[in-house]
Amino acid sequence: MTINQAAELRVKWKQRAHLSPCEHLNLELEWDDVGPSRGIYTCIICGEPVAHKSQESVSN
Ligand SMILES: [Zn+2]
Repeated sequence: MTINQAAELRVKWKQRAHLSPCEHLNLELEWDDVGPSRGIYTCIICGEPVAHKSQESVSN
């Protein structure tokens, strides 16, 4: 999604009377006009930028 779409989602999310925090289960790479902006993944539910989880449990 684009950074504008993400910003829109964040506004909409804040307007909702949600009781529980978003779990950021569905992520999409964030894009601006030229391409992947910062390599950041954005939650498509609430629009929050989420650092993409490369390796959650590194073994070494
Ligand atoms: Zn979320």
